[in-house]
Amino acid sequence: MNVKTDLRDLTYSRLTEYMEGLGLPASRARFVFAWLQRPGTRDFSQMVDVKKEIRAALAEHSVISHLVPAAVEKSRDGTVKFAFSLDQGAAVESVLIPEKGRHTLCVSSQAGCAMGCRFCLTGAMGLCRNLRPGEIVGQVLAVLEYMMGAGVVRTPPRELINNLVFMGMGEPLANYDNLIAALRILMDERGLEFTERRITVSTCGIVPRISDLGRDVRVNLAVSLHAADDETRSRLMPVNRAYGVDDLLDACRSFPLPGKKVILFEYILLKGINDAAGDARRLAEKLQGIPCRINLLPYNVTQSLHYQCPGEEHILQFQKILRDAGYRTFIRSSRGADISAACGQLASTGNKR
Ligand code: SF4
Repeated sequence: MNVKTDLRDLTYSRLTEYMEGLGLPASRARFVFAWLQRPGTRDFSQMVDVKKEIRAALAEHSVISHLVPAAVEKSRDGTVKFAFSLDQGAAVESVLIPEKGRHTLCVSSQAGCAMGCRFCLTGAMGLCRNLRPGEIVGQVLAVLEYMMGAGVVRTPPRELINNLVFMGMGEPLANYDNLIAALRILMDERGLEFTERRITVSTCGIVPRISDLGRDVRVNLAVSLHAADDETRSRLMPVNRAYGVDDLLDACRSFPLPGKKVILFEYILLKGINDAAGDARRLAEKLQGIPCRINLLPYNVTQSLHYQCPGEEHILQFQKILRDAGYRTFIRSSRGADISAACGQLASTGNKR
């Protein structure tokens, strides 16, 4: 059986090649691509500025995938979680976070995750499978469609989402080729045109891929650090056994950032594990020379993991040490905790391994 090509998986250059391969004029790829990146496009018949014969040839050999949320949950704080059921038994979640009239969308790059970070529910699930480019872009299109349906209006529609962060389920750099294709599609000026300053890719620290990312596409980088010494970090994050703290921070030092942007280091605070004054001082020392911002994330206590969150005074003291050392340091209260949409809580029950 011939499997039809999903056009939403294709970057503009791949779409052009694909159409040429079918004997179709490459000059029409621009129009087809624009339709594919429009929320609500489901069918070739909607492409009214593309000739009927071209649409018919495309429909014979290809499909246009689209994601529809299987469930939408709203938090008391305005955060909205979208659950998507995918083929091969995979399921992912995306989280829309409104703040001061702006919207940040947190997208998933994998169904589940193989990285096994000890404090993360997604990690506890293991990996189901990588998402295809069209499934990553599809989350953005589905959420835009939802917002438009809810009466939120902005022109062009992409302006509805101010920032895209790859901090949902999965380790983006472990699904590297599909991530890069998705970024190219999302950033393409013929489509959604997200600028480099509006996209952040977060990693747990796959060092060689950080350099690759800096070479292949210009976006913001966030690093889940969570400890500044190898012993603690290896206990919390198995990836650290392959790529230690110093190698990770060296890769950060040479990462090319867009404009005047800085690297975001995320540090989840776990009581009695990485929250001592000495941990804060070590962190300040290790980050020297890296243009950065630090987000401290008080741990979201979940029933299935055994960690605790430090007290408020303790967290403020940790922040003060970093601020006194000259670092822009913020305490980020996680959004959407009541609907399990907060940091480290995404764990769709739909995935089958
Ligand atoms: S924190 Fe990120 S990299 Fe680590 S297990 Fe969770 S999803 Fe994977």
